[in-house]
Amino acid sequence: MSGSAARLDAINAVKSFVPPAPSFAAHEAPGEIFGQNVFSRDVMQARLPKAVFRSVMATIDGGAPLDPSVADAVASAMKDWAMDRGATHYAHVFYPLTNRSAEKHDSFLEPDGEGSSIAEFAGKTLVQGEPDASSFPNGGLRSTYEARGYTAWDVTSPAYILENANGNTLCIPTVFVSFTGEALDLKAPLLRSQKAMADQAKRVLALFGHIEPGNVVSFAGPEQEYFLIDRSFSLSRPDLLNCGRTLFGAKPPKGQEFDDHYFGSIPDRVLAFMLDAERELFKLGVPAKTRHNEVAPGQFEIAPMFEQANLAADHQQLLMVTMRKVAQRHGMEVLFHEKPFAGVNGSGKHVNFSFGGGNVGNLLLPGDTPHDNAQFLVFCAAVIRAVHRHGGLLRASVASSTNDHRLGANEAPPAIISIFLGDQLADVFDQVAKGGATSSKEKGTLTIGVDTLPVLPTDPGDRNRTSPFAFTGNRFEFRAPGSLQSIAPPMITINTIVAESLDFVADELEAKLAAGEEFNHAVQKVLEQIVSDHGAVIFNGDGYSDEWQVEAASRGLKNLKTTLDALPELVTPESLALFSRYGVLSEQESHSRFEVALEQYALSVGVEAKLSLEIGGTIILPAALRYQTELAQNVAALKAAGVEADTSLLEAVSTPLAALRSAVAELRTAVAHHPDGGTAGHALYARDTLLPAMAAVRAAADELETVVADDLWPLPTYQEMLFIL
Ligand code: ADP
Ligand code: MG
Repeated sequence: MSGSAARLDAINAVKSFVPPAPSFAAHEAPGEIFGQNVFSRDVMQARLPKAVFRSVMATIDGGAPLDPSVADAVASAMKDWAMDRGATHYAHVFYPLTNRSAEKHDSFLEPDGEGSSIAEFAGKTLVQGEPDASSFPNGGLRSTYEARGYTAWDVTSPAYILENANGNTLCIPTVFVSFTGEALDLKAPLLRSQKAMADQAKRVLALFGHIEPGNVVSFAGPEQEYFLIDRSFSLSRPDLLNCGRTLFGAKPPKGQEFDDHYFGSIPDRVLAFMLDAERELFKLGVPAKTRHNEVAPGQFEIAPMFEQANLAADHQQLLMVTMRKVAQRHGMEVLFHEKPFAGVNGSGKHVNFSFGGGNVGNLLLPGDTPHDNAQFLVFCAAVIRAVHRHGGLLRASVASSTNDHRLGANEAPPAIISIFLGDQLADVFDQVAKGGATSSKEKGTLTIGVDTLPVLPTDPGDRNRTSPFAFTGNRFEFRAPGSLQSIAPPMITINTIVAESLDFVADELEAKLAAGEEFNHAVQKVLEQIVSDHGAVIFNGDGYSDEWQVEAASRGLKNLKTTLDALPELVTPESLALFSRYGVLSEQESHSRFEVALEQYALSVGVEAKLSLEIGGTIILPAALRYQTELAQNVAALKAAGVEADTSLLEAVSTPLAALRSAVAELRTAVAHHPDGGTAGHALYARDTLLPAMAAVRAAADELETVVADDLWPLPTYQEMLFIL
């Protein structure tokens, strides 16, 4: 098919699309199906021997080490439960550095040598698997000849059943490590960072009198933004198919300027998809809660309820997989890319987080009593200090070639990491800061300021969408993460840098108390010191403004604009020391992650460059040439007939066409060139040569789209993709 025939075909496919029959019976209330496919606490309690159940719970709730002797009993109960629910296979699910999840499937059935087979699933199979480690990015930690890698059961993230019309699979969340024990995934360091944060938080809590705070963890609530387009369109766009974003496409006459999509009513077809996806997520125990339209046409958001960070990270990956699958059932494609369409808003994945313990509640919730408020301020100040000291690491934790299209583009926070506290809390910290100066004069107020602080409001009232890191009443919201990425890297970073801050706070307080200082006075002093050393990171103004760029620079805040500016933060001597001191990543592991990120960057830009070349050279250029020929023939025919010919249209096509030809030629040369300098050289080349060469091809092609006859234009347009659902 040529020209617009392919597009018409896609449009007709949309028109004739028959929605799938509801996949749930009307009587199945969401509450009843919630967690139906999860090897949950209740299932375990019902199916495990009492002692085994207690032992597993001690690990899940109390962070006790897993007793290896219970594995067989759990495996056997898990297998029976899974087979009762139609499972024929089991899979160790793991989370490699690609930000995707990976699965290795095995059958429960093993030949017994006599022609029949038996169901086999022993404790050792549950606890450990052996996928090939060399086929996953490992940043040089593994080579093919030493490929052995292990997956190991993560007891704290429950197993679940993935349904398929042809058979069900028991999925077991695991960590993925190399033969020699280095982490090759995102889960291992996330679990380690949780522990680091908890250990330090407990030290601080002990000083506030909480000797048994319970299991201290971090919580995360990710808000996932995404686009939905009809599948027929995505199938006729090689760029969407292969790299998840459009590499071409002129701005439509109507974009998002009417602001009529945000919180507008959700189209029926989309609602049907959402309901279906939410039901599937409910079955898997993913607490999908909020849904609404987002700013751009075709853009939506889903936000599950917050959970313990490790579980939230696994659920978030499962959410993306499930949404993709369910969307296809509804004839649509979900685009999780940060910037699928130029000129309209991109998508993020805001990560809301807080810390808490079984017996101390949410540590970022201002309390009802001054004592609780002092504790709240200490934890809040620890976050402020952490973000100020390690803004570069936070920036690096959200760095990817795809997120680069979004950060700093006046629709998402800038690459400068600052904190928004809201007027009220900012004012409280101002008072704290002044406390030191006036304490001798106004004894009784500010010296014991933390005692006399007002009861803090839990609703901050105000919001600031331009801040990358905002306090929102009982949690912080990190708004820079990209929609496509795993929430593990930001959470690993947050846990680790907060652990370091809490360590500092605990050291300071302990020293002051040992020197005989009164507790409230010591707290006041530590808070004062943090605000005076790290207050520069607090910014309540407009993060999108040009003035902020200047002001931030004068405050010494980093502005790491691209991924390649940010990634080196991972391997500074300070970062290497930080991650290894808290047992989160060894120096070698940090280096390998840096390597992998560079490699992923170079690879993904490289693929985009090749696709740009292919689409620009073999789809758009021929279409434009056909139109040019048609116009030239028209001019010639008119001239032959003795009529004065208007050549303006021919020129309007010929100019961008010439530009496209030469841009394609340049991109071809650029793609063929192999730069020196190893992975870093490739990555820099991708950023500094390939991306600009692609942009030149796109500029010419997009201009052609506005002049070439519509019936010759081969690719679905922005208008069609964004507005037809
Ligand atoms: P917004 O108004 O920012 O769009 P949403 O309701 O879309 O808010 O999402 C807020 C997210 O924050 C949800 O995932 C919610 O569960 C989560 N959240 C709420 N309280 C906490 C908390 N204490 N810690 C972590 N996450 C939280
Ligand atoms: Mg939201």
